[in-house]
Amino acid sequence: MKYVIIGAVAGGASTAARLRRNDEHAEIVIFEKGEYISYANCGLPYYIGNVITNRNALFVQTAASFNKRFNIDVRTLTEVTEINRSSKTVTARNQTTGEVYEEQYDKLVLSPGAEPVRPPLPGISGKGIFTLRNVADTDFIKSYVLKEETKKAVVIGAGFIGLEMAENLHSLGLDVTVIEMAPQVLTPVDFPIAAILQQHIRSKGVHLELNTSVTGFEQTETGIQVVLSTGHVLDSDIVILSIGVKPDTRLATQADLKIGAAKGIYVNEYLQTSDPDIYAVGDAIEFTNPITGKPMITYLAGPANKQGRICADNLVFGNHHSYKGSINTAIVKVFDMTVGTAGTSSRQLQLANISHQVSTITSGSHAGYYPGSKQMTIQLAFTPGTGRLLSAQVVGYDGVDKRLDILSSIIQHDGTIAELTEFEHAYAPPFSSAKDPVNMAGFAAENILQKRSVLFYWNEFDKITPQDVLLDVRTKNEYNAGRIMDAINIPLDELRSRLDELPAGKTVYIYCLGGLRGYLAQRILMQEGYSDTLNLSGGYQLWKPCMLETPVKERKIEYQNL
Ligand code: FAD
Repeated sequence: MKYVIIGAVAGGASTAARLRRNDEHAEIVIFEKGEYISYANCGLPYYIGNVITNRNALFVQTAASFNKRFNIDVRTLTEVTEINRSSKTVTARNQTTGEVYEEQYDKLVLSPGAEPVRPPLPGISGKGIFTLRNVADTDFIKSYVLKEETKKAVVIGAGFIGLEMAENLHSLGLDVTVIEMAPQVLTPVDFPIAAILQQHIRSKGVHLELNTSVTGFEQTETGIQVVLSTGHVLDSDIVILSIGVKPDTRLATQADLKIGAAKGIYVNEYLQTSDPDIYAVGDAIEFTNPITGKPMITYLAGPANKQGRICADNLVFGNHHSYKGSINTAIVKVFDMTVGTAGTSSRQLQLANISHQVSTITSGSHAGYYPGSKQMTIQLAFTPGTGRLLSAQVVGYDGVDKRLDILSSIIQHDGTIAELTEFEHAYAPPFSSAKDPVNMAGFAAENILQKRSVLFYWNEFDKITPQDVLLDVRTKNEYNAGRIMDAINIPLDELRSRLDELPAGKTVYIYCLGGLRGYLAQRILMQEGYSDTLNLSGGYQLWKPCMLETPVKERKIEYQNL
């Protein structure tokens, strides 16, 4: 059996190595148009930022080591230019010698990845304007950044890679501005989680221009002028384009393989394309999202690597291993904060018309009495009634990855809020609390499902009418330091004795700092006959960054001392 693989990084190299483990006698040829194989593209921003100082550490394998270990014929700097399905051959071009030749296959695997989007803007091909996909891009960017005259950087696009680049360029001492067309950074997470991160990014001195697009670039004697949709022009020495990526379907299209609704290579559950002798993995394929049921492309290293393994098993042992799809579990470190997401955000659920409820809590990374505990915010979306967990987003300073992975696992297994409440974690004070943040998130969501807690959200204050009561149950000092609208203040611990100050029959909107005291107040009021009470989800400390990150002209309400 002869296997030919196109693309030798995440998906392609994984497929090749597993093929060899499965079949010692197969002939395996892997083509890579770049110079390197199986390198750590996820580490590239950190090499640019000198966090990773040894360039060689980026290379998980070399062509020679891969050949030696796995007996695989690795052909770097060789681009496959055509797939000839009728003759079961590919046409390859050796970029060093210029030689063009045909290579026969019994089974072919496509793992060509995704290519950065480069919109046709005036001046976009000019000097100093880069995309970051591979080692060659990295070397260009790094040499440019190290020039003494490179002092200002503009990063276009505030996605995962854009933010990693912003942090790394900033840590090299550059003055960094991030331009983002959307009203928030990291569009896979919902606005409140992004707002917390945006405040952190700004606090580090990185300039964030949201709701702004770039209309063109002009070269000057000293650098680049970046022209913005707002009419402003930014001077920069280097520009990083991180606008997004799109699946590389050129070969698949040329070979007339089926391209799916999301514009990725169509594969069935066995990762087999519309041609039974051709399989495909990685960023170039589309697959059904297990939550929305809609076709989707995942641009992540984990799924690409795992698909490679499944694909190789199906190639050698027959189509027995089905791929279940990705829920897009992703994480990023941005300065001191970490933010991660798994599942489908509330915004995406709304777009897909999927009914859901949202709950947000803040909890300590470990026991508050043990030094170093840091707050993290967890937002869940879940199905009303059944409580099926649809998404989880976590932002904080410590222990975010651990909680996100737990929540991701529960989403992947169609788990429910009930499972979060009973999740048994390893506890000692340096690691967690007796009730882990995952449990706390579950408890809060369960209260909503059981209608023991009724919420309102940071952007719903304009619903409050003059007939309603807005009640702040924080302490007097907290209230005086900053409050929302004309809230009245009855600290939680005084509420039972001051109920006569709350007129009966009114709708009472309650808030506290993080949501917990508000919930306790709500329980008192509900059981004292107040039938219409709502508690602010995430409390003042979630409302505040949301408000600060909402453009002034769009803020619908007033606040004091924000
Ligand atoms: P790739 O790994 O991109 O490999 C495709 C290869 O195919 C390329 O090397 C390309 O040169 C080659 N190729 C394409 N066409 C041909 C052809 N015709 N002939 C020969 N060779 C061809 N994901 C995460 O989950 N976490 C992260 O932190 C993360 N960070 C990232 C940081 C950066 C800077 C980048 C660029 C990506 C990052 N990713 C991250 C995404 C992750 O790297 C990709 O999802 C993953 O590599 C996709 O694997 P793939 O095999 O589909 O494509």
